[in-house]
Amino acid sequence: MESLTKKRLRAKRIFEILDPLYTKEKTALKYKNAFQLLIATILSAQCTDERVNQVTKSLFKKYKKPEDYVKIPIAKLQEEIRPTGFFVNKAKSIQSCCRELIDRYGGKVPTTMEEMVKLPGVGRKTANVVLGAAFDVPGVVVDTHVKRLALRLGLTDNHDPEKIEKDIQQLLPKEQWRRFSDLLIYHGREICKARKPQHDRCPIFDLCPSNSL
Ligand code: SF4
Repeated sequence: MESLTKKRLRAKRIFEILDPLYTKEKTALKYKNAFQLLIATILSAQCTDERVNQVTKSLFKKYKKPEDYVKIPIAKLQEEIRPTGFFVNKAKSIQSCCRELIDRYGGKVPTTMEEMVKLPGVGRKTANVVLGAAFDVPGVVVDTHVKRLALRLGLTDNHDPEKIEKDIQQLLPKEQWRRFSDLLIYHGREICKARKPQHDRCPIFDLCPSNSL
């Protein structure tokens, strides 16, 4: 079994190799403040960032604060966000989340993980995205790509996102957590795809225990 020290070294090398290869964007979602990012992130579940950006372009012009979202009839909100898919649940989450923001946080987005995950419709992934991009709080975002790559790269043995988050956190310094998640996401989209990982094009081939699978 690989020691923690060796795994840390491997994670460090993976970071160093991937970092210059993928451009730095805080997130591809477009937003002007933490509240807009929270709404965009809720909408991004099972949807591309491009599609979310198309929807939020007009949404954010019409509705600016949590109070605006709770006032819209739910059917109208569903219609506005329909192209992002799962619009019935997303509309419900947005309105409940906005109600909570108004009732508990004076209409502001809270800045801690504990508070964020208590908001309706907000899980650890959404919380990490918002806290990291809007408030620079270090965190590991575990989406489907990060989960798949962390397992293939042998950086975790766990399937539970919260445990994967912790496993990755112990391998790299805090300042690199967020960027490392982004790197795994980009690498998962470009090369280490779910169905057919392109081992022969992979710059971290030599560091990967799954390079022959
Ligand atoms: S070697 Fe293959 S499995 Fe490993 S990270 Fe690269 S593409 Fe993914």
